[in-house]
Amino acid sequence: MNPAEIALHPFERPASLAELCRTLSTRAVRKEKTVLLAGGTDWIVERRLAPLESPDDLPLVLDVSRLPEMRAIHVAKEHAAIGAAATFLEIKSHPVLSRRVPVLTAMAREVGAVQIQARGTLGGNLATASPAADGAAALMALDADVVLASVTGERRVPLTQFFTGYRATRRAENEAIVRVEFALPRTGAHQMWRKVGTRAAQAISKVAFAAVVELEHGRGVRAGFGMASVAPVTASLPTVRALALAPNLASVSEQELEAATRRDITPIDDLRSTAAYRAHVAVALVKCFFRSLRTAIGS
Ligand SMILES: Cc1cc2nc3c(=O)[nH]c(=O)nc-3n(C[C@H](O)[C@H](O)[C@H](O)COP(=O)(O)OP(=O)(O)OC[C@H]3O[C@@H](n4cnc5c(N)ncnc54)[C@H](O)[C@@H]3O)c2cc1C
Repeated sequence: MNPAEIALHPFERPASLAELCRTLSTRAVRKEKTVLLAGGTDWIVERRLAPLESPDDLPLVLDVSRLPEMRAIHVAKEHAAIGAAATFLEIKSHPVLSRRVPVLTAMAREVGAVQIQARGTLGGNLATASPAADGAAALMALDADVVLASVTGERRVPLTQFFTGYRATRRAENEAIVRVEFALPRTGAHQMWRKVGTRAAQAISKVAFAAVVELEHGRGVRAGFGMASVAPVTASLPTVRALALAPNLASVSEQELEAATRRDITPIDDLRSTAAYRAHVAVALVKCFFRSLRTAIGS
């Protein structure tokens, strides 16, 4: 499909979230194909790779990139809400997010290059549901909720339950992702973002890792992890998380960390890397993060 063929798609720009939801609802009932367009950095690439459909059967493209309800970033004292159409550029440039959630802003700085950051959005990143999605990994570590809107109102799905399989989510046809929400980590929480790829920009990760742990009196009281490119969906590393919350954090061994990490991932060989290398990197990243935790508690 060439760029001119993309222009054949019927296109609308709803003026409000309510209008978007009405259109999604009507079309879902009639079983008409609809696609939401935010930055277009995933969808346009996919359309160009896909075989040309009949011009009579093209989906209606609904542009959500300017919807006020999806653009806002609100950061309160203990809570953040980021609109689904907020771009990575807006996220990485946000002064309070940079201070309170460096795991998120460091991620946004490493998505694609600046051209992709200026167009790409968190909503698009989550809806595409690629196992390599950087935004999903960082938000998983923050225990974020995905807020979905439809004509019947809003519902909230924890990100850990949002992905149902490779490129599949709990979003229904008549729903849009309107924002993500999470509790801000306490000041002093340990946060880490690491992306391992072939080069600094425009590279999809071989492995990406996000971690957030809050410590109190030498033990973890809140822990979240997200890892990209090591499973069919973003991995939340539940066994590693349990170790971070163990009462004996100081004595968690390197062997335990390795076993836990390997248990939580199912990497594969593909164009970008091998399963063996991915597992090796995943274990190294987890060990590196726990070393920083142990240093923090002085053990
Ligand atoms: C050169 C290049 C480099 C890239 N590098 C990276 C990278 O380093 N890391 C990374 O994670 N990704 C990367 N990507 C992928 C892409 O940029 C991201 O996944 C981005 O977040 C997609 O957002 P978008 O707004 O462009 O989505 P779009 O392309 O607009 O939409 C993607 C999908 O999400 C759906 N959608 C969009 N918004 C909503 C919504 N509000 N509710 C429901 N569904 C919605 C669309 O219908 C479509 O199916 C790269 C892409 C390119 C082309």
